Amino acid sequence: MAVTRTPFIAGNWKMNLDHLQAIAFVQKLAWNLSDAKHDFADAEVAVFPPFTDLRSVQTLVSADDLPVKYGAQDLSANDSGAYTGEVSGAFLAKLDCAYVVIGHSERRTMHAETDEVVGAKVQAAHRHGLVPVLCVGETAEDLEQHGASAVPVAQLRGALEGVDVSKGLVVAYEPVWAIGSGQAATPEQAQQVAAALRAVLAEIAGAELAASTRILYGGSVKAANIAAFMREPDVDGALVGGASLDLDEFSSIVRFKK
Ligand code: PGA
Repeated sequence: MAVTRTPFIAGNWKMNLDHLQAIAFVQKLAWNLSDAKHDFADAEVAVFPPFTDLRSVQTLVSADDLPVKYGAQDLSANDSGAYTGEVSGAFLAKLDCAYVVIGHSERRTMHAETDEVVGAKVQAAHRHGLVPVLCVGETAEDLEQHGASAVPVAQLRGALEGVDVSKGLVVAYEPVWAIGSGQAATPEQAQQVAAALRAVLAEIAGAELAASTRILYGGSVKAANIAAFMREPDVDGALVGGASLDLDEFSSIVRFKK
């Protein structure tokens, strides 16, 4: 039986938009998505604002029952205690976060997050009922030396060691060289790596789980290239950085037409 995976468009705001700007943005985004004159592609839409915005976004989304999900950009591998500056998955769950981004390349490079740390964070997300959006991706150097798939595949295997994958996850393939560079991967490369990642999921957790897990592409996604990625059979959505901060651009990405 063919499995249908709901397209997922996720906006990673990174360290942009304070809580007041977040309220205005999410309100307008929801308005754009519910505007009947637009042909909304039935994608699930989520935004990933800074921690300090989440309470405001929760209040807004729950009060008006808006069709926008949200999550955090990171979480602590620990649940509570003497971890100055860290945020527990328990707190994110209390704010009704559905998702949490884990292992973004900016965390891996600037905060030295290893696959082991990333894996511990995936387990922390699961303990609190959050769906991890697990990011993997190769640098330009990796691409040159090992091709596109080797490093993302190794990162996925490493992060999922000891993880009960049946608790659910979204995988985001984000080539590091494509992030914020304006130079997206080709849809063919995204497909090739997404298929390799899905094969790893099948090996670890079985064909059914692999077939139902959404795999996103991320790295310089914009309104002009989203449709080409979405036409690829193993690409189920996008993790969008820069373009997720532009309301019209992000709304157009969400309303992609294949
Ligand atoms: P970008 O970022 O869309 O600005 O390339 C993607 C990301 O870092 O998730």
